[in-house]
Amino acid sequence: MTDGAKTIIGIRSVTKRFNGNVLAVDDVSLDIKSGEFFALLGPSGCGKTTLLRMIAGFEVPSDGSVEIDGQVVDDVPPNKRPVNMVFQSYAVFPHMTVADNVAYGLKMDGVPSSEAKGRVEEALGLVQLPGYGERMPDQLSGGQRQRVALARALVKRPKVLLLDEPLSALDAKLREAMQLELRNLQAKVGITFVMVTHDQDEALSMADRVAVMESGRVRQLAAPRDLYEFPNCRFVADFIGKMNLFEGVVKSSAGNEISVGIDGIGDVRLPFDGSAQGKIGIAIRPEKAKVTADKPSDEDCLSLEGQVTQVAYYGNESHVFVKTASGLDFSVTTQNNERSVVAATNPGDRRWVSWRRKDTLILAE
Ligand code: ATP
Repeated sequence: MTDGAKTIIGIRSVTKRFNGNVLAVDDVSLDIKSGEFFALLGPSGCGKTTLLRMIAGFEVPSDGSVEIDGQVVDDVPPNKRPVNMVFQSYAVFPHMTVADNVAYGLKMDGVPSSEAKGRVEEALGLVQLPGYGERMPDQLSGGQRQRVALARALVKRPKVLLLDEPLSALDAKLREAMQLELRNLQAKVGITFVMVTHDQDEALSMADRVAVMESGRVRQLAAPRDLYEFPNCRFVADFIGKMNLFEGVVKSSAGNEISVGIDGIGDVRLPFDGSAQGKIGIAIRPEKAKVTADKPSDEDCLSLEGQVTQVAYYGNESHVFVKTASGLDFSVTTQNNERSVVAATNPGDRRWVSWRRKDTLILAE
């Protein structure tokens, strides 16, 4: 995606109520850029699927409007919109060959079969299934069936491909491989992809930008790194990745520094160039903190003494849980960079948890 790309989908103050009282989408406005891989991310029931279905035309907004390529499409039926949807379950017709499945939409549109044949081959090539045209769906693996579903959507050359949890039916390994594949495919075809997912790893690793939704609203819309490193509220901080979250109160702020009293930590100075007052959230990512036997002497670090309560070993990394003397529960992710079968830290050890002041997040909301 390039900066300054034109808006392909405009969501303009869109609200969706079901049965008059279920508020599924609550006054959402956002722009999706042409050529972008965009993810709608959030917990179950936050309204992401409803928003996607309004772009597809399967639902109509109660208020506001959806624009595609500069046109308000509220009165345009799904099959007349320049979008195509790939569903969660690999919606392929079991009684048709792969080629017939892929050609289905073209046939409905009256594309001559001589042209359709070439386009089907091209689409199967794109999803890395060249030569699979004569197979039946039950002769394919789950991942291959999902690729057929993708080919069936791509063959129509939509301006926008809408993907509803496209990888959720796949097992973990295949899922990771397909994440990379989908990302590559999107870069190759250059079509705008809008994907709904509740899986943050999927959103972070695949999307150019992610809209994080909660209770029908977009809480933050940003690139993956910005979301992870600079969440704008407690909800996003907690939802994306793991986070140590504490409560604090602003004592004073001046220049680029803020003084806060943090429960269980005490009064500390932190670099901060925003504005905050009253109660705030204090957040530290587990991998930004360290566990050491001795108190670090670095002035730029904050440190707390405690006792290790648990160590969870994951091979590449370990999660070390420390209860501080002041009663806070802290989790620290350590990388197992050296080959060893001896744990460096064990439950019961007295340790110091430390992190750099500048890695402390201040959350006003
Ligand atoms: P999930 O990840 O579980 O699919 P979601 O974030 O996609 O969740 P939506 O499916 O958009 O959420 O649903 C948002 C809210 O709207 C939920 O409370 C849901 O129960 C409600 N809802 C969705 N579709 C309908 C419908 N057709 N009739 C009534 N309520 C609906």
